[in-house]
Amino acid sequence: MRPPILNPLFASATGLPGVGPRIAKLIQKVAGGPHVVDLLWRLPTGIIDRRFAPKIAEAPEGRIATITVMVDRHERPRNPRLPYKVHTYDETGPLDLVFFRAHEDYLKRSLPPGETRVVSGKVEIYNGLAQMTHPDRIVTAAELATLKAVEPVYPLTTGLTLKPLGKIMRAALDRAIALPEWDDPAWLKARGWTSWLEAVRTAHAPESEADLAPGTSARQRLAYDELLANQLALALVRANQRAAPGHRLKGDGRLRRKVMDALPFDLTGSQQQAGAEIATDMAAPERMLRLLQGDVGSGKTVVAFLAMLNAVECGAQAALMAPTEILARQHLATIEPLARSAGLNAVLLTGREKGKARDAVLSGLASGEIQIVIGTHALIQDDIAFHDLAFAVIDEQHRFGVQERLKLARKGASVDMLVMTATPIPRTLMMTFYGDLDASRLTEKPAGRLKIDTRTVPLARLDEVIEGVSRAVARGERVYWVCPLVEESELIDLADATERHSALAKRFPGRTGLLHGRMKGAEKDATMAKFAAGEIDILVATTVIEVGVDVPEATVMVIEHAERFGLAQLHQLRGRVGRGERQSACLLLYATPLGETARARLRIMRDTDDGFRIAEEDLRLRGAGEVLGTRQSGMPDFRIADLAAHAELIAAASDDARLILARDPELSSPRGQALRVLLYLFERDVAARTLRSG
Ligand code: ADP
Ligand code: MG
Repeated sequence: MRPPILNPLFASATGLPGVGPRIAKLIQKVAGGPHVVDLLWRLPTGIIDRRFAPKIAEAPEGRIATITVMVDRHERPRNPRLPYKVHTYDETGPLDLVFFRAHEDYLKRSLPPGETRVVSGKVEIYNGLAQMTHPDRIVTAAELATLKAVEPVYPLTTGLTLKPLGKIMRAALDRAIALPEWDDPAWLKARGWTSWLEAVRTAHAPESEADLAPGTSARQRLAYDELLANQLALALVRANQRAAPGHRLKGDGRLRRKVMDALPFDLTGSQQQAGAEIATDMAAPERMLRLLQGDVGSGKTVVAFLAMLNAVECGAQAALMAPTEILARQHLATIEPLARSAGLNAVLLTGREKGKARDAVLSGLASGEIQIVIGTHALIQDDIAFHDLAFAVIDEQHRFGVQERLKLARKGASVDMLVMTATPIPRTLMMTFYGDLDASRLTEKPAGRLKIDTRTVPLARLDEVIEGVSRAVARGERVYWVCPLVEESELIDLADATERHSALAKRFPGRTGLLHGRMKGAEKDATMAKFAAGEIDILVATTVIEVGVDVPEATVMVIEHAERFGLAQLHQLRGRVGRGERQSACLLLYATPLGETARARLRIMRDTDDGFRIAEEDLRLRGAGEVLGTRQSGMPDFRIADLAAHAELIAAASDDARLILARDPELSSPRGQALRVLLYLFERDVAARTLRSG
């Protein structure tokens, strides 16, 4: 239960003045949530400085100015499509106030001729004359004080302008209440931080541009609170998992032996090592939570599958959850033949299994007849019950939230968990995903892989690239052609996958397919299957092919506008080729002129294929926010904290969380109680619920 003290903050924003159903929807969009507190987390991104109060003749064009004027006369246009004008002046000259589609009554009332008014807005020069179109504010001289000197600017959305949103924000701030202090007083003092309430108010009342920086003490305090909530939540969940009695999963190896015999290759040294580490964890009585890190193509799936077999040898069930349908199918394709060699049946469960097929899987899982299941989010639906789920693998864990991980864990009694990622991230950032956890790394590539020949090519040489593609196709090889995703109109000038597809389809009739994020799952799979089967040779795609999908015959990866992709993403994409015996190539097409950073990044791609090194370079060149912020949906949902700007606070929050739980594991001391409030404030409810009440 959420502590009642937080109720005003978690009241619906619809309770604020001026928020009807229409505005509520827009607020949801702007604030990312329906509650008053969501508005509070939406910190200003700019300021309007109304302190600048020049005389009319001194007001520079284009700048916001607050000007005291004498109202002269109103001029109603003869043509209603022309604007309504109110002529004003001061001792330095005239200023016209301009209104389109004016409400005359209102203007007569607020700007009576012969009286003094203060107007604030952007000054324009039109036909040599100063004017102000739709002043932001019109007040009497007596009301001047209410015209705030500096107004915060918030991110807006269509249909919600700054004036009403500003009002709503002020109302939300009025609802903000003092909360019990959860931070250590000595720490607060050392950092010079104020209380939470003070910090929220300060963060929403910038006086200058400098007050908008993530390094201000108010924003640091709020970011720290968020990071502490995150670290505490992760640590609580972890402690809870450790405390629960675990399965001792120590199979006799009979199934694993069969699969090993059937494997067409030997495991690499690091696959063996990771396998041994996982087996040790599984055999231990505590619940396991281990990370398996390894580059694309390093062979994580096999390692995970062998661990799943260990669980099955013990008579239990094992599940693998992937973030997308395509990935789940890919895993199934790898695992199914291996499972068969052990006399097992691996089944698939995604959003697309419906009706009888789904019922059959559900009853097989409930009865225990199905021992190995691979799927997507469909695995954590409420109506899915396992007979005895003992081991779960989560692929590309950063695309899932902690919530989802826990939901899967709750499908069994005390599930051992392995999370896999192909995205190498540095330790501090790893902490924000997982807290402290054990990690195994696959550092070797499976033997016999040829190095991919990576080249950077200006877009102007597209013809040569197409010739190269044509030669590869003639050799019976397959080609990926990746275009940046067209999401927003601002990106429309980028190469559009659809256009590229039709151009290539003209050149290679009947041999070209298109894959993009807006296609339905079935369509995507059908196209992917055609490509895998060689019915088409060229697959034009947006980044939906980013992870996992395995087509050994693919030898050419063309990436258009490579300069727009993150390095980690380029690396993932490149990993789609070079999976078979033949020499592969990756062509990074870039638009000129290329900036210094972009040039450096493409050079790194050309010079190395070490995923960990690439990730580190990417962070160095672009900062954490860029690397992790936009592309990866499973990021812990940080409202305030900026992992690049607040990196230093992450380690502190992690230490703090560890210390807190060492002293007060149930958060029952007074500070512990305050920390519970903190957990709920940042909606780490799931973690808070692991605590005894009171
Ligand atoms: P990842 O999930 O790490 O990207 P996969 O597990 O999908 O990599 O493995 C990529 C490909 O390499 C698969 O076709 C797999 O069968 C194969 N593979 C895995 N381990 C080895 C190995 N030790 N030697 C040769 N091929 C391997
Ligand atoms: Mg894989």
